[in-house]
Amino acid sequence: MKSLVLEKKDDITLRDFPAIDREEEVLGPRDVRIKMHTVGICGSDVHYYTHGRIGPFVVNAPMILGHEASGTVIETGSDVTTLSVGDRVCMEPGVPDPNSKATRLGMYNVDPAVRFWATPPIHGILRPTCVHPEAFTFKLPDNVSFAEAAMVEPLAVGVHAATKARIKPGDIAVVIGAGPIGLVTALSALAGGCARVYVADLAEKKLEIAASLSAAITPIDVKSQNIPEVIKRDTDGWGADIVFEATGSPKAAAGVFEPLCPGGCVVMIGGQPDPISYDAGAAMIREARIENIFRYAHVFPRCVAMLSSGAIDVKPLITRTFAFEDSVRAFEIAASAPPADVKLQIELPQ
Ligand SMILES: [Zn+2]
Repeated sequence: MKSLVLEKKDDITLRDFPAIDREEEVLGPRDVRIKMHTVGICGSDVHYYTHGRIGPFVVNAPMILGHEASGTVIETGSDVTTLSVGDRVCMEPGVPDPNSKATRLGMYNVDPAVRFWATPPIHGILRPTCVHPEAFTFKLPDNVSFAEAAMVEPLAVGVHAATKARIKPGDIAVVIGAGPIGLVTALSALAGGCARVYVADLAEKKLEIAASLSAAITPIDVKSQNIPEVIKRDTDGWGADIVFEATGSPKAAAGVFEPLCPGGCVVMIGGQPDPISYDAGAAMIREARIENIFRYAHVFPRCVAMLSSGAIDVKPLITRTFAFEDSVRAFEIAASAPPADVKLQIELPQ
């Protein structure tokens, strides 16, 4: 089937991919076949395109990109009970080994055997159909659009980060980074009970979008403002209860404890391909709790429920939509990191 294929670093084509047709023919008893509708472009897709690797994951053979997806069930396996043909769904892209120790302990996202879309050597889903386990496919309420549903995957990262932070009602949070993950984290922190969330970035347009999401979001322009100064000023010198690091920049990560209050929590979200320096002394004098997250676990149904209830609105984050035929151009634009865009999505022909 026609797929968006990363041939190798800097080389992306829209072409037939016969190997995936053979794989996709196999529908297990607990699988569903899904016709794709909308697929979001993730920073990781772009990173594989521009760098050919993320840490230990190296693109050594042509790989189909894409892992943020929604679609419609077109066929169900013989043992499927919760989904029917015609159901609108979104899909969790990481499928662990159901018998692994990590999965049995409930931490299936850190199962070393997890198979995650568009992480080599596993293919992604920028293609017309896919086969996926029922257990990782979630039915959408009528009032959640395909575009919103394709945002559930990045939103899940924010909700997982907010869960790990153990937010208490009225907490003050700082999110460093106003990219898609920073913004879904800000929305998740508010939904989790934060009274105010400060969002820090360099890009003015991204900060404008951040501020437009909620009256409880305060942008910090790090070109002219200093994060710890703003937070200390607004908290009588105490500091923020939670700091979310959502840039993956070693420089930003080095300063995460400065705006943090005594006893506060830092959640590291941004990926760090290389070792970074860590201000252990600043963490120590605060008795800071530090949480790390890897993707997410158990949060897709919660994300869908919050989109449906209106507790979280991701629509302002979707800044451009491309037709599948224009996917190569969409990736070229995404790779140029346009400062006014948050999430670019691709719609497949229906
Ligand atoms: Zn993603």
